[in-house]
Amino acid sequence: MTIKENLQEIKNTFKNPDCLLVAVSKTKPVEDLQEAYDAGIRDFGENKVQELTDKQPQLPTDIRWHMIGHLQRNKVKYIAPFVHLIHGVDSLKLLKEIDKQAKKADRTIPCLLQVHIAEEDSKFGFDENELVQLIQSGELESLANVKIQGLMGMATFTEDQDQIRREFAGLKSLFEKLKTLSLPPNMKLDELSMGMSGDYFIAQEEGSTMVRIGSAIFGARNYN
Ligand SMILES: *Cc1c(COP(=O)(O)O)cnc(C)c1O
Repeated sequence: MTIKENLQEIKNTFKNPDCLLVAVSKTKPVEDLQEAYDAGIRDFGENKVQELTDKQPQLPTDIRWHMIGHLQRNKVKYIAPFVHLIHGVDSLKLLKEIDKQAKKADRTIPCLLQVHIAEEDSKFGFDENELVQLIQSGELESLANVKIQGLMGMATFTEDQDQIRREFAGLKSLFEKLKTLSLPPNMKLDELSMGMSGDYFIAQEEGSTMVRIGSAIFGARNYN
């Protein structure tokens, strides 16, 4: 199957046609991204700063680049001028650095706060208490150059569909719960980024607004 056919098939199986498809192109050559672009994709996700800054100038300028991986503070400056959305913000320190670099680039950078939802404990992210504390601390108010647009989460890597559903449902209910708090002016809860190649059906059934799909579009990744 070609990339275009894969994209068509994925779109056909969307439970929610309004859900944004972010094509996760990490490790794939720019030719593959161009193929997806030609099939209509404008949102691409990468998880490494080096790869993002390497590919960005080689491809059309109307692409919206999503940083989906763990982001180190000392690398924010390289993507600040152009990144469309940073999905994996997992600390206030990182958010402060994004704010600083956004200011330098004379822009506002949209971000999602990553929530730790997996029952396994290897994944990054805030837990519920930390998020409530962060929102109520008043510390977000002063970050004028970041705009928090929602939450992001990754389910446990498991075959257990019930567990995955439970984790996504938990994130959705936290999302709704946080909406009832008094949020700072630079924070909105519009976007819920959850779902990958193996679990996007479940994620959409549980309320995802954005799925990050890689291997189902581009094929298995080669890390050599
Ligand atoms: C790689 C990656 C994806 C895509 O994974 P697939 O299983 O290939 O769809 C989604 N989200 C994040 C954060 C990733 O690192």
